[in-house]
Amino acid sequence: MKDLTINTAKSCDLPPVFTGRHLIDGVWVKGSETFERVSPSHDIVVSRSAKAGEAETEAAVTAARRAFDAGVWSQLSAKERATVLLQVADLIEANVARIAVQETLESGKPISQARGEVSGAADLWRYAAALARTSHGDSHNSLGEDMLGVVVKDPIGVVSIITPWNFPFWILSQKLPFALAAGCTVVVKPSEVTPSSTVMLGELLIEAGLPAGVCNIVLGYGEPVGSLMASHKDVDMVTFTGSTAVGKQITQAASGTLKKVALELGGKNPQVIMPDADLENAADAVTFGVYFNVGQCCNSSSRIIVHEDIAKAFVARVVEMSRKVKFGDPLDESTQVGAIVTADHNAKIDAYVQEAINAGARVELGGGPLEVEGLGPQFYQPTVVTGVTPDMAIAREEVFGPVLTVLTFKTLEEAIKLTNDSDYGLSAGIWSTDIHTCLEFARRAHAGTVWTNTWMDGYPELAFGGVKQSGQGREIGKYGYDEFLEVKSLVMRVGRDSRAPWVETGA
Ligand code: NAD
Repeated sequence: MKDLTINTAKSCDLPPVFTGRHLIDGVWVKGSETFERVSPSHDIVVSRSAKAGEAETEAAVTAARRAFDAGVWSQLSAKERATVLLQVADLIEANVARIAVQETLESGKPISQARGEVSGAADLWRYAAALARTSHGDSHNSLGEDMLGVVVKDPIGVVSIITPWNFPFWILSQKLPFALAAGCTVVVKPSEVTPSSTVMLGELLIEAGLPAGVCNIVLGYGEPVGSLMASHKDVDMVTFTGSTAVGKQITQAASGTLKKVALELGGKNPQVIMPDADLENAADAVTFGVYFNVGQCCNSSSRIIVHEDIAKAFVARVVEMSRKVKFGDPLDESTQVGAIVTADHNAKIDAYVQEAINAGARVELGGGPLEVEGLGPQFYQPTVVTGVTPDMAIAREEVFGPVLTVLTFKTLEEAIKLTNDSDYGLSAGIWSTDIHTCLEFARRAHAGTVWTNTWMDGYPELAFGGVKQSGQGREIGKYGYDEFLEVKSLVMRVGRDSRAPWVETGA
């Protein structure tokens, strides 16, 4: 542990405990019960939130249904909807500092990254506003002289949005502005671990002039809130980001009403390192890919697949770089890796590592919890594990921590086989200077996103999502927007029907 780079506790003023309330039909509701969030890094209460039960959830769905059916939002022009979304984007930018501090205290992520997440989300709101103005259906003027076909797009209706704790503001912004741009009304439930930034966004929505009932927020747990949002007959679609296990429960809960389900779930994302790659860039990207957000990231590149000729030197370089990554106090401007979200999760990460060691794997770096002087106990060391076989749990399951698993290969064929030997299919990457190698990998990798010579870059324009047990449906981009729309075909006769009548009346 002595060779790691640790930022010890920094003394600074913390904001007062944040009070979170439900937003139902344009009114902030205190509710009778509350729950608290203790900061994983600072071990103090940082928010106290209203805790919803069935009654609050019902009220939120009723408000969203009423607002949708009344057309207070869905029947506005796209220009009017876009104007509100653009205003929200401006307000997000004006409130980055306040939202980011709360996000850091609740999630444990470094303040610089929380700021980047919140300010970057403003761009998603602007992009969604642009889609609202430019999206349109099709016309078919070639169906015969007395026919015109028009395909129009309608908002799908009331949407339940359920989000996780790892990127609370960003993931909400991958869904909410697109649903609103389409004309939907929504009920949002943030994770019980990170509820506050969603409430802060709710305040900005009201300030921007979003009509009452269009966006409702309920704070609380999966049971009963999330499951009622998934099963409710008055909800037309549920969009969920979280674990694969809960994704399956949501699919079951939604099946009773056959509502549309969009799922963004887990991943076990590989980066393949070919011997001809720019190895210095690749090592930097691997180090970033595994430690970003303490590895609590659906896109974490938690397994690398390295050519055996270069594996030893490459791993040594990654270990060397890992020692330089600044772990520690997330409120320190220079910190790159913060705290693990809960004590239970820290124990789960460690259990994966210990199980791999017992099965014969070697720990090249780290391999246990990390003590950061002056802060709570919820940190984990940067960890690199070699001698891993593809059947080990650490190579197959989502560890969701700062733990890199190394596998090796001899041929590209073998590397592609290892890449696709997974229940997941969120993202995959390859490092090579040969365009043919990159293209072959990109075509054959079973993943929603393939990166070549880069990792984790994303743009509002590019759809995001997974295959296999990483999910269904897409977010952001035009494809993400289309998820919130129903397609309706209008078949219109023009002038008199020239065809012979079907019923011979003799007339
Ligand atoms: P989680 O599945 O435990 O919880 C996610 C949300 O679902 C929370 O709001 C939770 O309260 C709610 N929930 C729990 N049980 C529910 C139920 N029965 N019905 C309805 N809602 C319920 O996930 P998490 O621990 O918050 O987040 C980590 C997981 O999210 C990881 O598996 C990660 O890979 C995944 N994730 C995926 C993406 C992606 O885009 N693919 C992005 C971020 C996180």
